[in-house]
Amino acid sequence: MPTRLPADSHVHSEWSWDTGGPSSSAAGRMRLMCERALAIGLPAVVFTEHFDFDSTWRTEPEDLLPHQQSLLDSRGYLAPPPLDIVGYLDSIDRCRHRFPELTILTGVEFGQPHLYADNAAELVDLSAIDRVNGSLHTLKVGEDRYEPNTLYRQWHPDDVVNAYLDEIPRMVSGADEFEVFCHIDYAVRAWPTAAGPFDPRHFEERFRTAMKAIADSERALEINTRRLRPWIPQWWSEEGGRAVTFGSDAHVPEALADNFPEAVAMIEHHGFTPGRRPEDFWTR
Ligand SMILES: [Zn+2]
Ligand SMILES: [Zn+2]
Repeated sequence: MPTRLPADSHVHSEWSWDTGGPSSSAAGRMRLMCERALAIGLPAVVFTEHFDFDSTWRTEPEDLLPHQQSLLDSRGYLAPPPLDIVGYLDSIDRCRHRFPELTILTGVEFGQPHLYADNAAELVDLSAIDRVNGSLHTLKVGEDRYEPNTLYRQWHPDDVVNAYLDEIPRMVSGADEFEVFCHIDYAVRAWPTAAGPFDPRHFEERFRTAMKAIADSERALEINTRRLRPWIPQWWSEEGGRAVTFGSDAHVPEALADNFPEAVAMIEHHGFTPGRRPEDFWTR
């Protein structure tokens, strides 16, 4: 029996600003994602579009994709445009009609939710959204915020990972809005090649402290399948984590459900079992 895939609970479409938006070459991507899901036997997709409110995010052209460059102002700040809720929900509706055999859930990937609850409430009632993922993308340095990839050029690499992990318990205790903590290895994605292979054990205590804070808040941890890291579910289980989701973080259809069969095997090894519906958390 082939593995029955869980929902991909972290997917972006043209409604995420970093794809270029609905009037760019990303137009129609939600539909293409749904077609891809059906083609590969994925039963459910959660469209968790970027939901960002940073206004002091400093970055550099080399840290951005070509289609994102125009968002950078002359002082080096990038203010992500707000999610077009009406356009997004309309697009979800159309896909639900077009693909009745696919379960399609609404969602957001809320960046730094501990800082922007008021901004979020002004834009949308999050209780009406099926899934609220929480992500830590930027860290405060002085008066500005930076992504890890920019900080790696300014700081010792260990300091970037440590600062990232230290912020997680503050995000967890400072926000009620999100239910899943995404890509806990986010800072590791940009780990500089020159620093040698990334060794998670060098940061084990901080990872465990962050995971324990997430577990104690009764949230789920996302198993981000862009890169499988077996030590994440192991430490998550050992720190009391009881629920996980699977998220590819796909921005293009070809990346949908990347590495899912391997991720499922990895998670089953730690005693997690699926819920009734493919979009339910896997629990232990
Ligand atoms: Zn993210
Ligand atoms: Zn994402």
